[in-house]
Amino acid sequence: MTHILQSNTDFLALSRQQPDCLTPGQFTLSNGTVVSVIAAGIIQFEPAATATEDVVLSCGVHGNETAPIEICDELVQRILRGELTVCQRVLVIFGNLAAMDIGQRFVEENMNRLFSGEHSRGPGLINDERRRAQRLEQAVAEFFQQGQGQRHHYDLHTAIKPSQHEKFAVYPYRPHDDYNTESLRFLAACDVHAILLSNGPTTTFSYYSADTFDAIAFTVELGKVRPFGENDMSRFAAAKDAITRLVCEPQPNWPSYRAEDFSIYKVNQVILRQQEDFRLGFGDDVPNFTAFQQGDVLAEESGALYTAQQDGEAIVFPNAKVALGQRAVLTLLPAEL
Ligand SMILES: [Zn+2]
Repeated sequence: MTHILQSNTDFLALSRQQPDCLTPGQFTLSNGTVVSVIAAGIIQFEPAATATEDVVLSCGVHGNETAPIEICDELVQRILRGELTVCQRVLVIFGNLAAMDIGQRFVEENMNRLFSGEHSRGPGLINDERRRAQRLEQAVAEFFQQGQGQRHHYDLHTAIKPSQHEKFAVYPYRPHDDYNTESLRFLAACDVHAILLSNGPTTTFSYYSADTFDAIAFTVELGKVRPFGENDMSRFAAAKDAITRLVCEPQPNWPSYRAEDFSIYKVNQVILRQQEDFRLGFGDDVPNFTAFQQGDVLAEESGALYTAQQDGEAIVFPNAKVALGQRAVLTLLPAEL
C-alpha cells in the first residue's frame, strides 16, 4: 500500500489540515531512506547505511515561531522528494500544530514548560498541549532508544523580543558542569554565538533530552518572531545550511571551537511574578541581553523591589504577563566555559 506522502510531500500541511490521512507507517524512498510517519507533525528518516548520529530537530513548540517551522518544513519536503539524502537518523517534530493554526504561541498553556513529565503533574493531562507534550516525549524516547549513535536534540525557536544577540542558545543544566565546547561548533556554524548556561533542572523540551537521554541538546533562538511568509530567510541561511549538513553529511567539518567566537552567560537572578501588580522596570522595547548598572530597578511588585546586583547584569526573556509564580525575567552575568 502506498502512503499519501509518496504522492504528496507536504507533510506539515497534511499534519495541520488532514491529520487523519497520515496513517502511521513506513515506506522506503528510491535512495534507500526509510521514512516512518509517527503521528501528525512527527516524522522520522533513517539512512540506508549505518548512522553515527541520532538527531532530533523540533520546531513550533511555540506555534507562532515560524522561521524554524519553515526551515524544517522545507527540509522534510526535500528529503521526501529525494532532493536531499540523509546520512544520519533524523526525527523532525512540528510541536504545537493547533497553535500554528491560530498564529499564537500556545492555545491554553506554554508547551515548553510541560516536559520531563510536567504534563501529567498538577491538574494532569487536561488540555491538548499537555497531551501533545507527552506524545512528543514518547516519540523522542523511542527514537533515541532505537538508535545507537550520538544523540542530539536542537529545539528551534524564535524570540518575542529584539535581542542584542540576534541568535542565541540555552544550554540545559548540567549537574556536573560538564559543558562541552565541541558541541558549540555546530552552533557557531548556525551563526549562534551567544550561549546561556541554564542554572537548574527545568521542564523544557531540550532539558528533557539532555537529562533523560544525555543528548547534546539546546534550545536555539534563531531570531525574531514573525508571521508565516514574512521571515527574511536570508537571516536564517547559515542555520538552514548547517542543519542540512548536520543530517546529510557523514562527518560535517565544523569550524574549530574558539572561545572568542562566543559570549557565554550564566544566570544570576530568577525573578518570579508573585503579585498581580508585578511590573518590569524597563520598557517593552529593551532588547534581550541589555546590561544594567548595579541598583537599577529591574522589576517591582507589592512588597518587593528587584534590582541589578552588579554592573553589567543583563536581562533576558522578560514577560510581566506570565502566570503568578512563573518566571518573569532572568538576569545574567558573563561566564566562561
Ligand atoms: Zn519559543
